Amino acid sequence: MKIIMLGAPGAGKGTQAKMISEKYGLPHVSTGDIFRANIKNGTELGMESKKYMDAGQLVPDELTVKILLDRVAEDDCKNGYVLDGFPRTIPQAEVLEDALNKLNDKIDYAINVDVPDENIISRMSGRRACVNCGATYHIQYAPTKVEGICDKCGSELILRDDDKPETVKNRLDVYHKQTQPLIDFYSARNILKEVDGTVSMNEVFESIISILG
Ligand code: AMP
Repeated sequence: MKIIMLGAPGAGKGTQAKMISEKYGLPHVSTGDIFRANIKNGTELGMESKKYMDAGQLVPDELTVKILLDRVAEDDCKNGYVLDGFPRTIPQAEVLEDALNKLNDKIDYAINVDVPDENIISRMSGRRACVNCGATYHIQYAPTKVEGICDKCGSELILRDDDKPETVKNRLDVYHKQTQPLIDFYSARNILKEVDGTVSMNEVFESIISILG
């Protein structure tokens, strides 16, 4: 099963992608995580992508598409995957579609986690990420056992630069201009599924399970 998660930044698609990944045994492929791992390791790709990420802009398609296609060509993706944060532009979606067509393959579901803009900014200012392992939490909706400390590895939590309010506003503008058109793109292919992202994490997941079976 090949699944794409759509939704504004902060809609909770990453959390749902992880839950889907665990329940259905599919790899969770997040382009944002791949970029952050590269930043942490000081690679050239990391240095290049950081400029865009810190400004709330998209990393150029040329860079993004290559890392994604390389990742889904790995062995563990043979039987499917959950894409989180890719595609984010129509050209990215077209490249993915072409690559899959060549393999006689296709995406099965594009799940849009729908949350209005007004909820997004307040949600994102509560997000916290681990400086070491990248695990994400929310001070209100998904708190750690000890405040400010990662449950998984015990490192310090921070508010990511790209979750700061001024950057979130940019990211929302970018989302509406460049990513929202994907809703029509996948609707035209009859694979779009909408879920209400304003309810609790578990309720959102229930709706997703009822779609995926
Ligand atoms: P995320 O963790 O998915 O919210 O991604 C964080 C940041 O990484 C985004 O704001 C972009 O700057 C960059 N990014 C992640 N995925 C993509 C993509 N598919 N296309 C372009 N930029 C991306």
